[in-house]
Amino acid sequence: MTSTHAFWLAGRQATGDDTFDVTSPWDNRLVGTVAVPTDAQIEEAVAAAHAVRDEFAATPAHVRAAALDHVSRRLAERTEEIARLISAENGKPLKWARGEVGRAVSVFRFAAEEARRFNGGEAQRLDTDAGGTGRLALTRRFPRGTVLGIAPFNFPLNLCAHKIAPAIAAGAPIILKPAPATPLSGLVLGELLAETDLPAGSWSVLPVPNDRMPALVQDERLPVISFTGSDKVGYAIMDSVPRKHCTLELGGNGAAVVLADYASDQDLDWAATRIATFSNYQGGQSCISVQRVIADASVYDRLVPRIVAAVEAQTTGDPADDTTDVGPLVSEDAARRVEGWVDEAVRAGAQLLTGGKRDGASYAPTVLAEVPADSTLAQEEVFGPVLTLQRVDGEAAAFGTVNGSKYGLQAGVFTHDLQAAFRAHRALEVGGVIIGDVPSYRADQMPYGGVKQSGVGREGVRFAMEDYTYERVLVLTGL
Ligand code: NAD
Repeated sequence: MTSTHAFWLAGRQATGDDTFDVTSPWDNRLVGTVAVPTDAQIEEAVAAAHAVRDEFAATPAHVRAAALDHVSRRLAERTEEIARLISAENGKPLKWARGEVGRAVSVFRFAAEEARRFNGGEAQRLDTDAGGTGRLALTRRFPRGTVLGIAPFNFPLNLCAHKIAPAIAAGAPIILKPAPATPLSGLVLGELLAETDLPAGSWSVLPVPNDRMPALVQDERLPVISFTGSDKVGYAIMDSVPRKHCTLELGGNGAAVVLADYASDQDLDWAATRIATFSNYQGGQSCISVQRVIADASVYDRLVPRIVAAVEAQTTGDPADDTTDVGPLVSEDAARRVEGWVDEAVRAGAQLLTGGKRDGASYAPTVLAEVPADSTLAQEEVFGPVLTLQRVDGEAAAFGTVNGSKYGLQAGVFTHDLQAAFRAHRALEVGGVIIGDVPSYRADQMPYGGVKQSGVGREGVRFAMEDYTYERVLVLTGL
């Protein structure tokens, strides 16, 4: 695993004149050395994508679907090896890494299915108005052009899959840029795509350093930017290219609401287990991790000890160990930041119920109550294994507290009350409301994305394909 990994330039392997190392956040061992493209190579990839765009858009759906099916199958065959790679470069426990590969298998399969049925078009009669007599409108979707896909470190395979698979399904060329901490999983997708006969130039995987990204972002031959990452970087990109079509999948501070009717022992055990698991999975480094528990006062005192016990039952340690639930964060710097935010909240009066300790890049699963509303922890996305607990009186107060955040990605609501579920759906300012579970549930085919500071646009294979394409109408006259 320590040889130099080539990147993928217009469908073929290449190396540049520079490299960087990828190390494991668990033990700092070298996981791989990655080749960096030169400016001339980046230009070659962009020019090739631009040149092939019409040919790629016209590539028959069955050809693109077959390529996507192939990648899905090969990912499934190589699950164990790829899961180990994800775990090594990202620090993600192996069991979650296997789950991530399984999701990427599905993403490519969904994309193959969508490639076959997308773009069927729509016919609209225009003779409902006198001026439209004898006319018919046919609508089809066409790619906007080459997509620049920019991926984060936390799901290094599946979030690359969410960029590249819909682009191929839609017939849009793509330049994919994986995260600097975790480029190896994205490069594996290149290996599998290279086994297909998609047109040369229709895809590249380029680990471009951040300081050379602005030129790529500005390039007019890349009219679509699909970005997943932090709000800071995402909005800076969008502000720098106001005329481009940007999708921003950004952060959140996911809330799990527990309403008064969710009160049996069985209910509270389920809620506590789900909350503990999904505030800590991937070390809390998921945009839809549970960061905030907002519980009705009538169930709060019975819920809290269950949550603390379930959090303390999480097994921490070596991500390569099959029994580990919580591995390290992506870097020691990330763990130090989380430590700083927790310490600040405790100094300001928060009550530490468990955790609060750092060891290198690892941060212990942590639960706090009474966190001051103006603390960084209460306001920002912690992106670490930290849970804050809030007691509220009634449903309206609970929903208002969820909406008090500047973020709006997903929310979970534990209730059995169907009417309350509909009220939550109406009231909560988020992209997804999950009833009976945590906000961390995501199915890869459903529309996924946020409002407010959590982003713009939707992923989920078909929804990304809609983003990568636009409707062009054909009006027929004299019918
Ligand atoms: P990040 O914003 O630091 O980096 C994301 C990507 O942007 C990386 O590939 C990075 O190299 C690139 N980048 C950095 N500077 C750039 C620039 N100037 N121009 C262009 N690209 C640049 O985010 P991260 O730390 O990798 O990921 C964590 C964040 O991602 C969290 O906020 C998390 O909530 C968010 N996230 C959101 C979703 C979602 O679907 N909503 C999913 C996963 C992660």
